[in-house]
Amino acid sequence: MSDDHAAHAISAYSSRINTTPHLDRIAEGGIRMDAAFCTNSICAPSRASMLTGTYNHVNGVTTLDTHLDNSLWTFPQDLRASGWQTALFGKWHLGHGDGHDPTGFDHWRILPGQGHYHNPVFIDSEQGIVERGGYVTDLITDDCIDWLDDRDTERPFALFCHHKASHRTWEPDAAHFTMYDDVEIPFPDTFRDDLAGRADVVQSVRMKMLDLDPIIDLKSTVPDGLTLDEEIDWRYQRYIKDYLRVVASMDDNIGRLLDYLDEHDLTDDTIVIYTSDQGFFLGDHGWFDKRLMYEESLRMPLLIRYPDQIGPGSTSDQIVTNVDFASTILDLCGLEIPDHVQGRSFAPVLRGEDPADWPDSMYYRYWMHNDGAHACPAHYGVRTRTHKLICYYNDPLDQPGARGPANPIEWELFDLVADPLEVDNLAGRPGSEAITAELRAELARVQADVGDTPYPA
Ligand code: CA
Repeated sequence: MSDDHAAHAISAYSSRINTTPHLDRIAEGGIRMDAAFCTNSICAPSRASMLTGTYNHVNGVTTLDTHLDNSLWTFPQDLRASGWQTALFGKWHLGHGDGHDPTGFDHWRILPGQGHYHNPVFIDSEQGIVERGGYVTDLITDDCIDWLDDRDTERPFALFCHHKASHRTWEPDAAHFTMYDDVEIPFPDTFRDDLAGRADVVQSVRMKMLDLDPIIDLKSTVPDGLTLDEEIDWRYQRYIKDYLRVVASMDDNIGRLLDYLDEHDLTDDTIVIYTSDQGFFLGDHGWFDKRLMYEESLRMPLLIRYPDQIGPGSTSDQIVTNVDFASTILDLCGLEIPDHVQGRSFAPVLRGEDPADWPDSMYYRYWMHNDGAHACPAHYGVRTRTHKLICYYNDPLDQPGARGPANPIEWELFDLVADPLEVDNLAGRPGSEAITAELRAELARVQADVGDTPYPA
């Protein structure tokens, strides 16, 4: 798993801005999921949903400030109890100490919080604080390979390789430092989106190129004499090149792990899963970051290789979410799925089956109302195969740190077939009454189905 790695920066997903030959090996040997979505596009909540198989209103990790209670069930616990050797290396970001340490792992070594790209400190389950020299993506991979070398080869294993990359502040390693120096990275189609017609609270989100910090994010000062448009273009190039350099290093290291499996005759009998905790805006709509329910942020990369059960080079457009991961992994491993788990196994979908009752929609909720830095509003919504309805309920009641007066409720409605780039908000538009009514009913249905409730405003 990686952090903030958008599907549209993977060549297996037809990236226009980079190539990822090693991630593509997973796709070529297995399945590319084209409609995998997170149910809350931010780090800690998405990770909590994956581990617990539940939505954030159930597992309690609704924001970055709510750590995972490690008395909760997580699927690695069942793997370990069933004889799997288990380990986690890298980013955890669900708190540590005081009831938040990882559980279900024979061994774990995590970064404190976000951790650092260069010379990072780790917290080890046996050794405590461990200071390391080197680059974080290399070190996490080294630890994974060392652990594989030391494991009992007679027993199954479940290894969680959790990269910090490609999270802000995108600091490349020496090997990729000058990559892309002499090229211009293509701009996304919606780079100049003026956000006209979108919700007011979306237009005021502070995730624009001008909101990147020149020193911290772009590692430079803004050159003199640029027009505003030229400065925005310059910012994008600085931002996206470092993002892609960090991704390139990660792709190389994923190649090392895949090579290890090949060299040790493990490939045919190992499930390899690549995902990221959510997507990311790569200049799309003029933004960086995530949080919003727009496609680039909502979509998770999800590549799964398992030669025993999954046909090579396959794809699926069935809707699956991060809440389904725990059930799916247990199912593929032949273990029982506990009754309390909300997610559903999509193992049949991976095998190419077409379950008649598979869901045609998914529920999303971003809770972290106006965190101050990104000014992103809380919202919930539903995505079907063809449409998306989003409600920005916009009431700062009960939201510590929220600023400014309460905004009115606002809606966005997109026809994803006619308008896949989501630039034409149909909410309130004459002629959209019927589809609006249908989607509002579907939103209420999926919200009730997962046990969440409308915001009391
Ligand atoms: Ca993340």
